[in-house]
Amino acid sequence: MFKINDNYLKLPGSYLFSNIAKKVAAYSEAHPEKADNIIRLGIGDVTLPLAPAVIDRLHGAVDEMADQSTFKGYAPDLGYEFLRTTIVENDYKTRGCDITADEIFVSDGAKSDSGNIGDIFSVDNKIAVCDPVYPVYVDSNAMAGRTGVYNPETEKWSNVIYMPCTRENDFCPELPEETPDIIYLCFPNNPTGTTITKDQLQVWVDYALKVGAVIIYDAAYEAYITSENVPHSIYECEGAKGCAIEIRSFSKNAGFTGTRLGFTVVPKDLKCGDVSLHSLWARRHGTKFNGAPYIIQAAGAAVYTEEGKKQTQEQIAYYMNNAKTIREGLVAAGYEVYGGVDAPYIWLKTPDNMKSWDFFDYLLEDLNVVGTPGSGFGPSGEGYFRLTAFGSAENTVKAMERIKSGKAD
Ligand code: PLP
Repeated sequence: MFKINDNYLKLPGSYLFSNIAKKVAAYSEAHPEKADNIIRLGIGDVTLPLAPAVIDRLHGAVDEMADQSTFKGYAPDLGYEFLRTTIVENDYKTRGCDITADEIFVSDGAKSDSGNIGDIFSVDNKIAVCDPVYPVYVDSNAMAGRTGVYNPETEKWSNVIYMPCTRENDFCPELPEETPDIIYLCFPNNPTGTTITKDQLQVWVDYALKVGAVIIYDAAYEAYITSENVPHSIYECEGAKGCAIEIRSFSKNAGFTGTRLGFTVVPKDLKCGDVSLHSLWARRHGTKFNGAPYIIQAAGAAVYTEEGKKQTQEQIAYYMNNAKTIREGLVAAGYEVYGGVDAPYIWLKTPDNMKSWDFFDYLLEDLNVVGTPGSGFGPSGEGYFRLTAFGSAENTVKAMERIKSGKAD
């Protein structure tokens, strides 16, 4: 008789976005006249179409696939050289990071990579995560049997080190008392929209090198950084090549959420004893992944052309203008507001310590605005709420007018 991986049975239900959808649907059904008035600022998905330079290249690549002389079959496991070289030149060399093209592994996105990277580590490792957190890091480790037992009361796993990120520590995790083996960091952060300075990140790199831990650094929102002293890559920190894997995405910088492209950097210097993690990830990638599609990688390279850069930067500026609207609107309405300067997420403290879900109900029912309760990202998210800058400028302005006036119209 076959057996299942019963670690899956230990996972608590993923209620956050389905609960939100259910609540919005129930409200719309009960108040059909209000259904069209609802503004959604809960989504973490982009809304602008792909940039013209990307679309042009996609069309061109599709035509290449229609011609015998330019047709491409399987892509190289680790990604096309043209894309890996372009990534190195633009994302790393320009920032003084000594990363080479053969240390870049092209993939179908940061969710897959952050979920799959655990394959190359022993089940005995202890992970540390920020709280609140992008849920993939914890759930993928739970599936692997690395997290122990889930306690629904505390909403924590017994074998996970949680590093609270709250206003008390400026949303920057403190070094944990118990030593972890694998540390997940994500900056700029989802969900808090806050980030870390280069000096603060250097402390983590030094710590990981000292205790022999590896850092999985998720830089999916790197393109939103505007502040001077915020690192775009962990490899800007000294020694990071000896302790860090970096994960990047084309989803939020270039609108590839539905197109799918990302990459992971595994430096050759990163070793466990004599074994290089690079060789393990190359083996894993080559065995379980057959390459991102040629047309998508070609489109990804177009993001780095002069027009591609200009057009995608305009899109980011559009979203960040929404972020500014949200920040200023909330501040004017008397809220305590974080994030939204180097990230498309705004994290607000609920008024009078209202529970995150109660605040959700208030926004939906009284103002017809949808956001995301902070408690859905971890216990330290209770009492906070996330709004995103990915809506239309018009709706974002409207939502802030409602929040300021306390009325739906
Ligand atoms: N990492 C973080 C922190 C995210 O917030 C997201 C998406 O919201 C992802 C990764 C997923 O990125 P991708 O679309 O490349 O899978």
